[in-house]
Amino acid sequence: MVELSNIVEVKNISVNYHTLTGETVAIKDLSLVVVKGEFVSIIGPSGCGKSTLLSVLGGLVQPSKGEVFIKGESVKGTNPIVGYMPQRDQLFPWRNILQNVLLGLEVQKKLTKETRQKAIELLEKYGLGEFLHYYPYQLSGGMRQRVALIRTLAIDPEILLLDEPFSALDYQTRLAVSDEVRTIIYNENKTSILVTHDIAEGISMSDRIAVLTSRPAEIKNIHDIKLSCEEISPIKKREAPEFRHYFNRIWKELDIK
Ligand code: ADP
Ligand code: MG
Repeated sequence: MVELSNIVEVKNISVNYHTLTGETVAIKDLSLVVVKGEFVSIIGPSGCGKSTLLSVLGGLVQPSKGEVFIKGESVKGTNPIVGYMPQRDQLFPWRNILQNVLLGLEVQKKLTKETRQKAIELLEKYGLGEFLHYYPYQLSGGMRQRVALIRTLAIDPEILLLDEPFSALDYQTRLAVSDEVRTIIYNENKTSILVTHDIAEGISMSDRIAVLTSRPAEIKNIHDIKLSCEEISPIKKREAPEFRHYFNRIWKELDIK
């Protein structure tokens, strides 16, 4: 029996990529459970299989072995309850902000007066109400990333998959945007899985962190992050005294060569 609070269950998956030149084992016998409402980060060395894991969760890549369950159902393909936020904002330059945000709804054939209104409300709620008719090039990188998140939220997914969503931003913007994104996700009560190679980002944003080995990705360790800080803000959380203990432990576990 699958427990209902386990919104995501990854059971012993392996992923082998077959190419003309041979086979790459990206993931090996990996299991992970994510509870509804949790924010889990996946940290691992570059090329270890993190994006592959998200692709499996999103139903874009079929595991060679094992199975993934979302809300108790075996994943066979893409699923509208799973939203994906990519590394780069991928906004279309010829569409204005509102048109970009409505894109996911259009693709899923869910664009109605109501869903359009909800998308506008999200943009307004998160400080983009004045920019509905602006084009992406008129916005800062941080604002564009916020638009990309709102586009993902507009389709009202229960689970958000975030693949290094801040890596294209400079350090200052990255801190500010991760703070905003964490607050938005908290307010909207989503279950989130964030891939990052930034240890501090992972600790400051997450309830739990899964550390992966270098390729093929296996779970090396899982950390419950408990910081003595009441606030949701990742910037504030970085000031908690326990922060550096987690940092040092995870740093040692990452076998970066
Ligand atoms: P990460 O996101 O951790 O950097 P990836 O999941 O993107 O790692 O890739 C893991 C490994 O699988 C890498 O060696 C990469 O080259 C390989 N890989 C990823 N996607 C494909 C693909 N579509 N076909 C073949 N090999 C791939
Ligand atoms: Mg990747």
